[in-house]
Amino acid sequence: MTKYEVIIIGGGPAGLTAGLYTSRAGLKSLLMERSMVGGQIINATLVENYPGFPQGISGAELGSLMHQQAVKYGLEIMIAEVTGIAQGQPYNISTTEGDFEATAIIIAAGSEYRKLGVRGEERLLGHGVSYCATCDGFFFRDQEVAVVGGGDTAITDALELTRHVKKVYVIHRRDQLRAGQVLQQRAFAEPKLDFIWSTVVEEVLGDKVLEELKLHNVKTGQHSTLKVAGVFVAVGLMPNSRSFFNIVDLDDAGYIVTEETMATSTPGIFAAGDIRRNSPRQIGAAVGDGVTAAMSAFKYVQGE
Ligand code: NAP
Repeated sequence: MTKYEVIIIGGGPAGLTAGLYTSRAGLKSLLMERSMVGGQIINATLVENYPGFPQGISGAELGSLMHQQAVKYGLEIMIAEVTGIAQGQPYNISTTEGDFEATAIIIAAGSEYRKLGVRGEERLLGHGVSYCATCDGFFFRDQEVAVVGGGDTAITDALELTRHVKKVYVIHRRDQLRAGQVLQQRAFAEPKLDFIWSTVVEEVLGDKVLEELKLHNVKTGQHSTLKVAGVFVAVGLMPNSRSFFNIVDLDDAGYIVTEETMATSTPGIFAAGDIRRNSPRQIGAAVGDGVTAAMSAFKYVQGE
């Protein structure tokens, strides 16, 4: 079985930064990513708040640069999904590509979009159902669409969509938005936005493409339908921590509990980025976590 000094799980900014630091420090390091190296940022058209790029940079380009830089210093990268970690030293990591051993582990598996979990949502994904307004808004030019959610993402997405579409319905399960005041003010002043309050989506209907949403007003109990060409689901994120619940402590929402050193409840296992409790969920913060986790892993491998 191949043994590494450090195995990093997740190829977003936190994982790639951790990999850059551990390999540059001379540790035999492997990063495992289940889909695309770069992480969630590859969906961002323009990143304007990551220092060093005053004109902004596309998320895909930033991810690619981070990838190149880490590989340059010897980080090995493998496309594989981690299915579990067994207790013991070295740790045994089972993946879709076989088992691996590591002295230290850095979990940087990020988070994923929360689903509504209603009928039709999965079937019509990519055929009217989307989780990324920045990626897919363009396809709904001059049509009517809906955004589900009342947080910062939902309102940012709804405002962004008004640049392309004829009308945006914001469907929110309560009668008050969770989004910050500035976004709320902009949203209420935008004539292309219509709010459907205290309402949940019960079903996504359509044969080959989305045709309408079945809605349920949770206050009045009334059912209705809404004809839209697209629905953007923006109901938050969920940590990708399912495979780690038996090896490290998670909080009630499923985020990994870490110390300032990024140490988890299990010696030699560290966590970094969006998957850890209280992460600010920013690229800069994920990069910082990656550095801290790598330095802590280095000390652990050295026996300090
Ligand atoms: P969020 O703040 O957790 O909001 C999720 C929204 O979805 C809430 O309005 C919630 O309703 C609703 N929701 C959750 N589950 C639902 C369900 N099953 N069905 C229907 N509605 C559901 O998530 P987010 O908006 O993605 O933001 C995540 C973090 O990123 C936040 O900390 C946010 O501040 C930050 N962020 C910031 C910006 C910015 O520009 N500053 C932009 C994007 C994100 P309730 O309100 O009833 O709970």
